[in-house]
Amino acid sequence: MAYTYDDQNIFAKILRGEIPNDTVLETDHSLAFNDIRPQAPIHVLVIPKGAYVNYDDFARNASDAEILDFTRAIGEVCKIKGVETDGFRAISNAGQHGVQEVPHLHIHILGGRPLGRMLQQG
Ligand code: 5GP
Repeated sequence: MAYTYDDQNIFAKILRGEIPNDTVLETDHSLAFNDIRPQAPIHVLVIPKGAYVNYDDFARNASDAEILDFTRAIGEVCKIKGVETDGFRAISNAGQHGVQEVPHLHIHILGGRPLGRMLQQG
């Protein structure tokens, strides 16, 4: 499936500097910032600067340099936020079943408290 990217999504606006963000890390190809509605004491969103709808789109279509940068950025965010010892959860929601709100790839990095089981029943 080819994805159609909506360049009016909120993260595209953040990348263009049209709305502010609370930056944790910026690299050549990636940006990490605090979620505006944190669901844990640590809740960072890591996004590629390129126009990718979700993880599937990115994994298949991004360049090696983008994938390397993005993966390293996630590692660096974990280090900056100090979640290596107590642990964290990395989540990427996609599409309707994944209940994705913003159609630009983002990895949620959650931590700072016990997070419970990954999925609830039902
Ligand atoms: P999704 O449901 O798409 O996986 O998650 C989207 C996330 O983006 C949500 O956790 C939501 O709180 C966050 N979010 C939505 N709008 C903004 C915004 O303008 N700024 C920031 N920093 N986070 C946002």
